Amino acid sequence: MRISGMFMPTQREIPADAEIISHQLMLRAGLIRKVASGIYSFLPMGYRAFRKVENIVREEMDRAGAQELSMPAILPAEVYMASGRWDKFGPEMFRLSDRGGRSFCLGPTHEEPFTEAVRDHVHSYRQLPVTLYQIQHKYRDEKRPRFGVMRAREFVMKDAYSFDATEEGLDRSYQTMYEAYCRIFDRCGLDYILVHADSGAMGGSGSQEFMVKSEVGEDAIAYCTACSYAANEEKAPCPAPEVGAPEPMLEKEKVHTPDFRTIEELMDFLKLPPTDFAKTLMYDIDGKIVAVMVRGDRDVNETKLKNLFDATELNLAGPADVERVTGAKVGFAGAIGLKEEIPVIADHEISAMSNFVVGANETDQHLKNVNRTRDFAPTRIADIRSAVEGDPCPECGSPLAMCRGIEVGHIFKLGTKYSEALGCNFLDSAGAEQPMIMGCYGIGIGRTLAAVIEQNYDDNGIIWPISVAPYSVIIVPTNSSDETINTMASDLHDKLTEAGVEVLLDDRDERPGVKFKDADLIGIPIRITVGRKAGEGKVEFKLRSESAATEMTPEEAAAKALELIRQG
Ligand code: ATP
Ligand code: MG
Repeated sequence: MRISGMFMPTQREIPADAEIISHQLMLRAGLIRKVASGIYSFLPMGYRAFRKVENIVREEMDRAGAQELSMPAILPAEVYMASGRWDKFGPEMFRLSDRGGRSFCLGPTHEEPFTEAVRDHVHSYRQLPVTLYQIQHKYRDEKRPRFGVMRAREFVMKDAYSFDATEEGLDRSYQTMYEAYCRIFDRCGLDYILVHADSGAMGGSGSQEFMVKSEVGEDAIAYCTACSYAANEEKAPCPAPEVGAPEPMLEKEKVHTPDFRTIEELMDFLKLPPTDFAKTLMYDIDGKIVAVMVRGDRDVNETKLKNLFDATELNLAGPADVERVTGAKVGFAGAIGLKEEIPVIADHEISAMSNFVVGANETDQHLKNVNRTRDFAPTRIADIRSAVEGDPCPECGSPLAMCRGIEVGHIFKLGTKYSEALGCNFLDSAGAEQPMIMGCYGIGIGRTLAAVIEQNYDDNGIIWPISVAPYSVIIVPTNSSDETINTMASDLHDKLTEAGVEVLLDDRDERPGVKFKDADLIGIPIRITVGRKAGEGKVEFKLRSESAATEMTPEEAAAKALELIRQG
C-alpha cells in the first residue's frame, strides 16, 4: 500500500480531551475519530488493527469449538423482560420505540436472545453441550464514557454462551473458554492477570476477569503477595475483624465541630486517629435513602452495597436529601438521631470499634464516645468496605497488595438463571426436563486493542506487536527524486506484497524526518529505509522496538521481515 493515496489523518498535537496514552495515540495516529461522547469511528489504519484482534479472537473461539453466528443489535423489550433485566439495566440501556409504540433496546449483552434461540431449537441432552458466539456491537449508556474506545457507549464485544446438561459439563466448557482466552491475550502480546470478579448484572456464581496490568486501569485489583489469589476490589471480601475484649464504654458526649467537614480536619481538631471515627454516607439506592457507615479510613464499596440491595441504581444522595434525613448540613451525618427512619447499614468493622466519633445529625456537631451496642442498632451489619493494601488474603491470610488493571475479558458461570427464567430446558437421559446450565464469556475488541497500546508505546508513538499491527513493514525511501532509491523501494514493496506481507511504502514527497516520525507514531514493527546506500545495494533494517538499525541487502531485509512475521 502506498501512503500517498491513503486516508491516514495523523496529528502531531496531543488532543486536549484525551487523558490516557492509548486514547491520545489512537487519535494522533489516525486510528479512530470521535463522533459523539463514547461513540467512535475506526479509520482505515485503526480498523486494520481492530480486525487483527477480532481475527485472533475468532480463530481461538473456532479452535475451542464455539460456533459463530450474528444476532441483531436491536431487540424487542420482551426478550429482556422475562429475565427481569429490562428494569435491572436501568439507565445504562439504550431504549427506543418503533412507529407503533413498541419498545426496543440496543442490546447491552445478549444472554437472553441466545438463551431463546437455544431454547427453541435444542431439546435433548444429546444435542448438548453447545457454545455459540458472535462478534458484534453492544450499546451501553455508560455513566462515564471515557478513554476513547476503552469505555465507549457503542463497542464491539465477542460474546459467547455455553449450554450444558450438567455442572461438570459447564466446568469443562468454562475451562475450554478460559484456555482460549489465555491464548487470545498471549497472542495479542498482553501482560495480564486473572482475578476473581463480581458477577454484577449477569447473576450467577463463579466469574473471573482477565486484567491487563496498567496504571490507568479503572479497576483496582487486590492480589496476594504469597499465593495466587487475586480479586477485583469490587469483590475482594474483607473478613470480619476479631472483636477483642470490649473497652469500657465512656459517656457519650456532644462536641462542637464548626466547619470541620472532612475526616482530616476533624482528626486534627479532636486529636484522634481515623480509626476512631465512623463516617456515615447517605446513598440513594433505587430511590430510597440509606445511611452507610464505615470506619473513618475506609471507603464504601459501592458494588458490595449494590449487591446487598440487589439494586439497579446507586448514587450518593444529593444535599437536599441529606439535609432532610439528618436535619443538618452535609458533613454531620451519623446513625443516631436521624430525622427519618431509614435503613442504617454498618460495615462489620464498626462492631469492633468502641468509643468512636460520629456525626450528630446537627450542623456543626459530632458525638464522641459512641458505642454500637449501647447507642444504636444498625439495620444490617455487612461487608461493605473496599479491601486495602495489607488486608489479609481470604485464601492464605498473607497481606494483600493492590494494583490497577484494565478488564479486557470476563468469563462467568451463569448456572440456570437465564435458562430457568426463559424456560430453556432439555430432556435428560431419563426423559426428565431440566434447565440448561449456562456460561457466558465476553471480550471487548476495541478495549483489548487500546490495552495493547497502553502496554506498548514510547515517546514517539505506538509499538505494535506484529500480531496486531495494521501493517507489518514500512518502507521509507529517503529521497523521492532519486531514481535508484525509488526503484529499489518500490521493488521491495511489490516483492513483499506478493509474499503476502502487509507492507506500506511511504512514497510521499516529504523529508525523511517527517516520514520517520509518522512511521514511529503509527508504530509499524519493521522499518526498511532505502537511502544513500541504495547505489551500493544496501538498505537499513530497523525494528520499531529497538533503536539500532542494521545494513543489509534488500533480499536479506525481505527474508528477515518474513521470518519475523512468521514467528508472529
Ligand atoms: P466494566 O466493569 O469495565 O464496565 P463490564 O463488567 O461491564 O465491564 P462485561 O459486561 O463483562 O463488562 O463485558 C465484557 C467485556 O466487554 C469487558 O471485559 C470489556 O472488555 C468489554 N466492555 C465492557 N464495557 C465496555 C465499554 N463500555 N467499552 C468498551 N468495552 C467494554
Ligand atoms: Mg460495565
